[in-house]
Amino acid sequence: MSRILVVGSTALDSVETPSGKADNALGGSAFYFSAAASLLSPVSLVGVIGGDFPDEEIQFLRERGVDMAGLEVVADGKTFRWGGRYHENMNDRDTLFTELNVFEQFKPVIPAEQQDSELLFLANIQPDLQLSVLDQMSGPRLVITDTMNLWIDIALEGLKKVIARTDILIVNDEESRMITGEGNSLRGARALQAMGPKVVIVKKGEHGALMVGGEGELFSVPAYPLEQVVDPTGAGDSFAGGFVGSLARDGAQDWTALRRAMTWGSAMASYCVQGFSVRALRDLDQQKALARYEDFRRLAGIPEPRR
Ligand code: AMP
Repeated sequence: MSRILVVGSTALDSVETPSGKADNALGGSAFYFSAAASLLSPVSLVGVIGGDFPDEEIQFLRERGVDMAGLEVVADGKTFRWGGRYHENMNDRDTLFTELNVFEQFKPVIPAEQQDSELLFLANIQPDLQLSVLDQMSGPRLVITDTMNLWIDIALEGLKKVIARTDILIVNDEESRMITGEGNSLRGARALQAMGPKVVIVKKGEHGALMVGGEGELFSVPAYPLEQVVDPTGAGDSFAGGFVGSLARDGAQDWTALRRAMTWGSAMASYCVQGFSVRALRDLDQQKALARYEDFRRLAGIPEPRR
């Protein structure tokens, strides 16, 4: 089993959804990712928080063995804060505020013993920071990257450089359209492959996710049908956590390992949205996660055709 290094945002989120609201709750791409990935494999996290951060909120990650040696604490600084409000359809959301705070001055420093990590997940964060992480690594076996609409809008050139150095790119259909101009997710994925990554995953919310492989292979996984979504925040990051966690656990990246990883990603994302913040992922254990994975296998149980 390989250890994963994740670098991303470490935040306090204030979120309103049709199901309710949560203020200053644990959030950020790196925390969501770690909450999911740590159920499958060892994780080391690099990020930054302020002196105002409630340390007890991440105790469960420590208990799951997440190595936080790379989590910088700026004692006189304020933690990154993000606020969002979801529309009735739970798919669209408005960003209410983004306060970078300690992220404004942040220069990620990868601890020496983590520079040769085999799996690097560049979670959603400013593309220049993603590049500076890549420059500090001594050649990870696999680089997996995520991003968001904000960086496509304001930092596309830097983001393209990150994509060129990425092995597996994870985007949603909207981000794919924004980067490539292609509204069709398959054509979008192929256009993204032409920018560098061997494998591209396009997530489509409640319509599941599509993966295109290096030899043009295709795989599609459904989203788990849920009667109630409580808070969609972090679904993408927990999908990535399940995906990369599974690859680390398998120690392989062949097409079977990639398809298994897609299923783990979908299983973790389906848990994430069942509670505010990381609550559902915090309460999840390996046994319940495995049961959800099995549900996915049943969900896709396609019988042989009659001949
Ligand atoms: P997702 O729902 O997967 O897009 O991820 C939501 C998480 O992204 C929230 O927990 C936010 O704290 C975090 N986030 C929001 N805006 C940014 C940003 N500009 N850079 C990095 N992380 C962000």
